[in-house]
Amino acid sequence: MNAPHVLEVRDLRKSYRSPEGEHTLVVDVPSFRMASGEQVGLRGPSGSGKTTFLNLVAGILQADGGSVHVDGGPMTGVSESARDRLRAERMGYVFQTFNLLQGYSALENVELGMMFGRGVDGRYARELLGRVGLGHRLRYRPRQLSVGQQQRVAVARALANRTKLVLADEPTGNLDRAHAMEALALMREVCREHDAALLLVSHDPEVLGHFARVDDLARLNRATSGSGITMPVAEPAPGVGERA
Ligand code: ADP
Ligand code: MG
Repeated sequence: MNAPHVLEVRDLRKSYRSPEGEHTLVVDVPSFRMASGEQVGLRGPSGSGKTTFLNLVAGILQADGGSVHVDGGPMTGVSESARDRLRAERMGYVFQTFNLLQGYSALENVELGMMFGRGVDGRYARELLGRVGLGHRLRYRPRQLSVGQQQRVAVARALANRTKLVLADEPTGNLDRAHAMEALALMREVCREHDAALLLVSHDPEVLGHFARVDDLARLNRATSGSGITMPVAEPAPGVGERA
């Protein structure tokens, strides 16, 4: 039987040590859930802990407390090497700067992503790259591709292990408007086709406007960062004056 939620977060906490040695609570999320196949836009101003939250979900960062379950299995309370393995098996991640390996072709980047997951399947890697419109660029290295094309390689890689969850951290942040909208549509479509849930972080209202469900990290997160500065929750609407 399938787990009812593809992602379930409880009482997730993370603090960082500042350069002065103080601990600052950055993430304190009592509860966050996504249903299987659901697409969620996660909004929050810069510095509100969006990347930290995604990295905790992905097990790139170790939580100080609380739990993350992906596809019914725990990501928390296990060693770093176990988290690395579980990440490859249970989720794809589209990083803001794509994190492609520069010395390898588009096809190799997708195949390398498979090595830590289900194992290399060259046919499926080619199929995915074809699906994102790069069937004619399989042998190109990242540097030989446009930024938009590199982003599409990253999308193909994120789907390579047929996981039920894809995370994306401001994946359109480095693209111009037209390419950003195209990339967003592609990601949503491909996740839908592959029955993968999508958690996409953005602070761009136009990007977020495409999602039926948009959550506000400032509302989910009880930690308001140790800066003492309270960031406005919503993007300021024209004509709205400052509210303390
Ligand atoms: P966002 O992605 O929403 O812009 P981040 O999750 O990157 O926010 O950062 C949230 C807060 O945590 C920021 O105030 C940032 O300065 C702080 N922070 C992030 N990484 C570290 C780190 N490695 N050490 C100390 N503080 C950090
Ligand atoms: Mg960030």
